[in-house]
Amino acid sequence: MSGNKLKHIFRSHRGGSVRCVFLLALLLLLSACGAQTPAELGFLAMDTYVELKAYGDNGEKFLSLANEETVRLEALCSAHSEKSSLYRLNSGESVRDAELDELIARAIAVSRETQGAFDPTLLSLSRLWGFGGGGAATVPDEEDISLALESAGYGKICFSPSGEPELNGVQIDLGGIAKGYAADRFAALARENGVESAFGSFGGMVCAVGTKPGGVKWKVALRDPLSDGFAAVIQVESVCVSTSGAYERYFTHDGKLYHHILDPKTGHPAESDLLSATVVDPSGIRADALSTALFVMGEEDALEFCREHGVCAILITRDKRMVFVGGIEPVKDSVDEAYSPVFEK
Ligand code: ADP
Ligand code: MG
Repeated sequence: MSGNKLKHIFRSHRGGSVRCVFLLALLLLLSACGAQTPAELGFLAMDTYVELKAYGDNGEKFLSLANEETVRLEALCSAHSEKSSLYRLNSGESVRDAELDELIARAIAVSRETQGAFDPTLLSLSRLWGFGGGGAATVPDEEDISLALESAGYGKICFSPSGEPELNGVQIDLGGIAKGYAADRFAALARENGVESAFGSFGGMVCAVGTKPGGVKWKVALRDPLSDGFAAVIQVESVCVSTSGAYERYFTHDGKLYHHILDPKTGHPAESDLLSATVVDPSGIRADALSTALFVMGEEDALEFCREHGVCAILITRDKRMVFVGGIEPVKDSVDEAYSPVFEK
C-alpha cells in the first residue's frame, strides 16, 4: 500500500471520529438547550387571538390552566359582557370581589402617576365613539362629548377603608390593563407550575417568562404602525412588552382617522405625535397602562415621564424616528429603514 493511500485512510478515519465527536457534542448541546418542541395553544379571548407556548414537562398542563385563567379574567373585567363582575359593578350592583377592587385600585394608581393620561373611567366616552360594546363608530356631537367627560374622571372614585371602590357616578373601563393583568397571571401560573420558559402573546401585549431553553433571550418583533410588517426586533427575558398605537382599532370619517385611545382632557381620540408607544416592564399591568399613557402624552411628555420614572420604552414618532429610552436596544440591523433610530437616556 502506498504511503499516500495510507495517509488517505488515516485521514478519513480521523475525519469520521471528529465528525462523531462533533455530532455527539451537538446532540449534547441541543439537549442541554432543551431543544424540545414547545407545547402551544391558541384561542380567542379579550377581543384578540391569544397565542401561548411553553417548554418543559408541565407545558401542556400549564397552557390549559393559562387558557382557563384568561377566560376567567375576561369574565371578571370586561366592561361589555353583561355577565362580568365589572359590568355589574358599573350597573350599580354591590359586587364584592377583592380581585376586581385591587385591579381598579392599581388602575387608579397609574392614573395618579401619569396625571390622568391613563384614565380608566372613560367608558361612556368610549361607547359614545362606538369603541367596544357593539356601538356604531361615529363622530359624536361636542355636547355629548362634554356630558360624557363630566361624568368621567378617576379623581371621583373613592375607596372604603376595606378597599372597596365607590364609583360616584363614573363607569370603569379596564380595557387599558386587562391584557396586562392576563400576562401577569400567565407568568405567575408558569412559576406555580414549575415552568421556567414560556411565551404569551395577547394582542399588543406579550409576556416572556424566563428565557428560551438554554438561556437564549426571546425575540419580540415590534409591529410597524405604517404597514403589516415589523419595525424592529428587541431581545428580552422575564418581562412584558406592550404596544399601544392608533392602528389597533379605528374608523375613518371624511378622510380622518379616529382611533380608540382617548385623550381624557379633550374627550377625543388622542392627537398624538406618536404612531405607537411600547413599554418593556416586568409588570404586565404597568407595561399595558403605561403604553396607553405614553401614547396619550406624546413624545415630549412621554420622554420626561420615562426619565423620571425609570421606564424602558420605544416611541415611534410621526416623523419616523424610533426613540429608544431607558437602555433598551434593537437587535443589530433590525430597525426598518423607514425609521431612524435614536437613543435617549
Ligand atoms: P388595546 O386594548 O387595543 O390593546 P391599549 O392597551 O392601548 O390598546 O388600551 C386601549 C383601551 O383602553 C381602549 O380600548 C379603552 O378600553 C381603554 N382606553 C382608551 N383610552 C384610555 C385612556 N386614556 N386611559 C385608559 N384607558 C383608555
Ligand atoms: Mg395598553
